Amino acid sequence: MSVRVRFAPSPTGALHIGGVRTALYNYLFAKQQGGTFILRIEDTDQNRYVPGAEAYIIESLKWLGLTPDEGVGDFGGTFGPYRQSDRKDIYHKYALELVERGHAYYAFDTPEELEQRRQETDNFTYHFATRNGLSNSLVLPQDEVHARLNSGAPYVIRLKVEPDQEIHIRDLIRGDVRFQSSELDDKVLLKADGMPTYHLANIVDDHLMQISHVIRGEEWLPSTAHHVLLYRGFGWEDTMPQFAHLPLILKPVGNGKLSKRDGAKFGMPVFPLSWEGETADDSFTGFRETGFLPEAVLNFLALLGWHPGDDRELFNLDELIDAFSVEHISKGGARFDYEKAKWFNQKYIQAAENDILASHIRPLADEKGYRVSDAYLATVAGLMKERVTFLPDFVEKGYYLFEPVLDYDLDMLQKKWQDGTAQVVRELKTLVAEAMPYESASLEQAVKTFIQEKGLKPGDVLPLLRLALAGTMQGPAVFDMAVALGRDEFAGRLDLLVQQGEKLLSSAVGS
Ligand code: GLU
Repeated sequence: MSVRVRFAPSPTGALHIGGVRTALYNYLFAKQQGGTFILRIEDTDQNRYVPGAEAYIIESLKWLGLTPDEGVGDFGGTFGPYRQSDRKDIYHKYALELVERGHAYYAFDTPEELEQRRQETDNFTYHFATRNGLSNSLVLPQDEVHARLNSGAPYVIRLKVEPDQEIHIRDLIRGDVRFQSSELDDKVLLKADGMPTYHLANIVDDHLMQISHVIRGEEWLPSTAHHVLLYRGFGWEDTMPQFAHLPLILKPVGNGKLSKRDGAKFGMPVFPLSWEGETADDSFTGFRETGFLPEAVLNFLALLGWHPGDDRELFNLDELIDAFSVEHISKGGARFDYEKAKWFNQKYIQAAENDILASHIRPLADEKGYRVSDAYLATVAGLMKERVTFLPDFVEKGYYLFEPVLDYDLDMLQKKWQDGTAQVVRELKTLVAEAMPYESASLEQAVKTFIQEKGLKPGDVLPLLRLALAGTMQGPAVFDMAVALGRDEFAGRLDLLVQQGEKLLSSAVGS
């Protein structure tokens, strides 16, 4: 049987990073098995539908390169439509079929009646022990049922769960999982508005779309009991997919599941892309906008619940496809370690080609109004890539590669600036103006010779050059920066340093 897996998110808001991990594991599994990765949108819950959420899901998958082989929008495929709200008639038909097969029934209880039951009985459950006393087609006479249906009275269709059955699945991650049917409720399958519930739509679609493996979050494990009963009820048990329920993603510290609020709490992204919700509370900065490379996010997420069985940590998407195995997904929760995410980003930035980085830096530079060539951005990428964590750091930490130094390390300047330093810097400026050729090694050699001839020490001179160029003692190698910025700019910055140094000296003398 061919492997067909689906990522089936509900468009109820921004897609949480846990959802992205589910998509990734489905993708990796499909690709490794030579199978098909399908994107299905589960939007049958009208109350929770959020406009823009479907587009967000698609954009997230595209950003990460997890392109579906079949699915909503323009992904194609012959099992569509892939959006459940476009499949309403299909579910209706199957709900009726289940009634005919004796595994589902009509229920006419109004919300008020059910509410009253809940008031009267603690833990009221609509199931085998209570359904006989309720208003449904199992107890009402046949002609009354027909009359009610014909009159257009509202009804739902419920799954008829028979008591005392054992339900068993062999979860690919958790092993044997057993449920007792007597503990289950008679789930609503078709709602009064004619829409299916998640359970019905999910099973009908997995069957019709010939899904072979269901890989999803562990919060869906309890529902699986009902899903198995649905497969049985339809007589589809032979082609029931295999299940794999993924472990939770845990908060960075403390107990519990990573929540969207943890983003603000710990100052880190928990969504792939930024999202503007109705309220500030529902607006988030994404991994992308924080300045992560998609490859780093994929690598980080892959290891959040899966391990390769050895101590390798760096995997590009192809390597992940090769190494991935469901057996190596952990049962226990995986802790969200933001420091690790940052570490991956640093590694991927360091390993990226300069011109690729340049294309990522371009919009950031444009936004700041820096008018520079692609070649210059590639040079900046090369100079800074060992020193940044996020993409915006190239223009923020490395701002002095785009505009004059705004901020000098004054302690350092004070330490290095003495009577006579101004003269040394002026002579260095002449040297810079005349150095031939103007490139890193010869410039360095010229400066070294100068230091020797003047009887100075490198520690007296090199920090000054660094301060002139960057204002800070951090940053790329001095002569590489000097060459990147160009002769005239370097000379100009030496002038500015003299002004700054002299100002400091006179204020120190004056005080
Ligand atoms: N629509 C469900 C969700 O929002 C998917 C559950 C499943 O994959 O079966 O996560």
